Amino acid sequence: MSERPIHPKIFEESLPAWHRIFIEDFRTFKIKRIVWDLDETLGDTQAVVKEEFDLIAGTNYKDRILDRFDGLSHWAHEDGVMTFEEAHELESRLWTSEDILGWVKPFHGIQVYSRDADKNDVEQFVVTSRTGRLDKVTFAWSLIHYPWIPRENVRITTNRDVRYDFEFKVSETGLIEPEAVVDDNNDHILMMLKNAPSKTRFVWLARLRDTSVADDKRVLAVPGGARQFSRLVSHNLDTLA
Ligand SMILES: [Mg+2]
Repeated sequence: MSERPIHPKIFEESLPAWHRIFIEDFRTFKIKRIVWDLDETLGDTQAVVKEEFDLIAGTNYKDRILDRFDGLSHWAHEDGVMTFEEAHELESRLWTSEDILGWVKPFHGIQVYSRDADKNDVEQFVVTSRTGRLDKVTFAWSLIHYPWIPRENVRITTNRDVRYDFEFKVSETGLIEPEAVVDDNNDHILMMLKNAPSKTRFVWLARLRDTSVADDKRVLAVPGGARQFSRLVSHNLDTLA
């Protein structure tokens, strides 16, 4: 991540009381039912997608933070590397490639938190908007990197004809009725906010510093994404930061 997030303690002190209590409830495992998104939340998906895109297109985007949908296609088009359509064809193929997604590395801090949460009787789910064509790699990846999350708690649409199934993510999260949802996608959070019970609160893993869209009390925006969030909910702030 090229944009260094501010120190987690200083960030936490800048928050209103209800968000500080929310973080403390995570830290002490009082949040007993969590829904995790997969891409960009449990795993650093954009790293492998950018790496492969760079290799094929001859670009050097690996250190730039992808903060918009079809971002690589926009960059490659703006930089005159290829047409938007060509770049989009490539980018879409990479984001939905079983081979690429099998290589995704978990965010270490999130992995540690999730494992400790399991030991503290926190029920955890993975709910993804990935296409149903990616079910095998999604179950296999979750089993390898988050083996304490039961297979039946990993939820992916059975619809194989879509690129993404946002509606599945929204409806599934509503059914699970979690206390917290952790997700990097602000649009998905806005949809889930309307559908989930009022007790459900959200952590938005914002990659850049602009978190102005999240002004709902139920949404904690964390600039710095998954890495910053895992520092915030860790007991070892000083050693991890
Ligand atoms: Mg995501």
